[in-house]
Amino acid sequence: MDPGTLNPYEHGECYVTEDGAETDLDLGHYERFLDVHTSRANNVTTGRIYQNVINKERRGEFLGKTVQVIPHITDEIKSHIQALGRKGIYDFVITEVGGTVGDIESLPYVEAIRQLKWQKGRDCLTIHLTLLPYLGTTGELKTKPTQHSVKELLSLGVQPDVLVCRTEHPMVKGMKEKIALFCNVDATAVIESRDADTIYDVPMLMQEEGLDEVVLRKLGVANAPEPDLTSWKDFLRRYKNPTSEVHIGLVGKYVELKDAYKSIKEALEHAGATNESKVHIKWVHSEKLTAKNVAKHLGGLSGILVAPGFGNRGIEGKIEAIKYARENKVPFLGICLGMQAAVIEFGRNVLGFADANSTEMNADTAHPVIAMMEDQKEIENKGGTMRLGAYPCKITDGSLASKVYQRKDITERHRHRFEFNNAFLNTYKKAGMVATGINPQGKLVEIVEIKDHPWFMGVQFHPEYRSTVAKPHPLFVHFVAAAMKEGAVALAVESVAEKA
Ligand code: GLN
Repeated sequence: MDPGTLNPYEHGECYVTEDGAETDLDLGHYERFLDVHTSRANNVTTGRIYQNVINKERRGEFLGKTVQVIPHITDEIKSHIQALGRKGIYDFVITEVGGTVGDIESLPYVEAIRQLKWQKGRDCLTIHLTLLPYLGTTGELKTKPTQHSVKELLSLGVQPDVLVCRTEHPMVKGMKEKIALFCNVDATAVIESRDADTIYDVPMLMQEEGLDEVVLRKLGVANAPEPDLTSWKDFLRRYKNPTSEVHIGLVGKYVELKDAYKSIKEALEHAGATNESKVHIKWVHSEKLTAKNVAKHLGGLSGILVAPGFGNRGIEGKIEAIKYARENKVPFLGICLGMQAAVIEFGRNVLGFADANSTEMNADTAHPVIAMMEDQKEIENKGGTMRLGAYPCKITDGSLASKVYQRKDITERHRHRFEFNNAFLNTYKKAGMVATGINPQGKLVEIVEIKDHPWFMGVQFHPEYRSTVAKPHPLFVHFVAAAMKEGAVALAVESVAEKA
């Protein structure tokens, strides 16, 4: 149905949209590139397609007809592809079909595309992404797999209009013509997509290759304005010409798999570019952190970020990392479980509640400083039942949060079941941990800060989902700036000039 119940080891991060859909991390890329909020309508899975069809069958909507892959499943797929278009606010709808041509799972999707192409004629275009493998021993690129996958696609009735060829090395002269001839496309529609230094270079490279012009020409769009990429180029210039570098520790339990923290990593990159500082992330495994070795692992870092997560594994290491950041006055950002761990740490080590915990980790603790929300207690199904999507938050005047956001009212996206337990609010406040962001309806604590610390913030929401190239998130921008104050190393001017 959705990646919400998947272990991050399977699929990387679960991305959450404004309207609370738990989706594939690809949607995060789309938001970061386009600066457009996506929604539930931007993503569909085979599970959802089948469930919808089965529900319709149960309601008798098919009037006793035999329900089949074609047309019932393919109609459902087509209806989802066209859902955004029906809103009437977009000029184009771009649909990515995941998987590989020839996969059994992909067949109904390719068939749906074939039908759509037939129905829409010139208003529909298919772009096929293929691989040009590079043989190191002979030093050549091979076009055969591209020819083959196009053949496979043709056997399913789909003629691609544009081919985008992924390659590690530049295509040699005549290669585009060769592919064009074998695959029934014109040579200008064979686009080279070479490995880039950064994913953020890709739009510029696609423009150089003329992908935009080919697409517009084939769709019959004349006189389209030149795209204004000034701010994108400005971002790239800052990103590629940092004047300092800063080291930030990311403490989590999936550090072997960087995709599990994709949006956090990208938000730190955006913040680095804004500050013209190169952010080096040190991936710290929370399961390996103990009171004894924490200084060895985190010493020398200028900022510490404790990541979101579920369950007991690695939680004690996260708490150690926070204790270190709090006591040594290292800038700290805790996200979701990272914020909850900060509350637990403060409870144990400042307030003296030795058993302070979240009821997620210990249901019987006498000090449940993080506890399950009332309306979560009756829920049995795991999928799609958390506090999900954008919620408003009111920020306290004079707080660090208000300095960061420069606003009183914000909204941020959530994905959790547990919350700060308000029964402890005053005890914490008196000891110096203050709630500076509150959900106006439910009075839920969304932000905590420590007064006696240069930069210490825990947020119950996920700011990383909102950071884009056009709008780097202020929390990350300020966090990186605070880390720079703490100990950024100035880069040698020569090396910067060299890069420029
Ligand atoms: N496990 C915690 C909860 O459910 C935190 C979730 C998260 O970090 N996304 O509340």
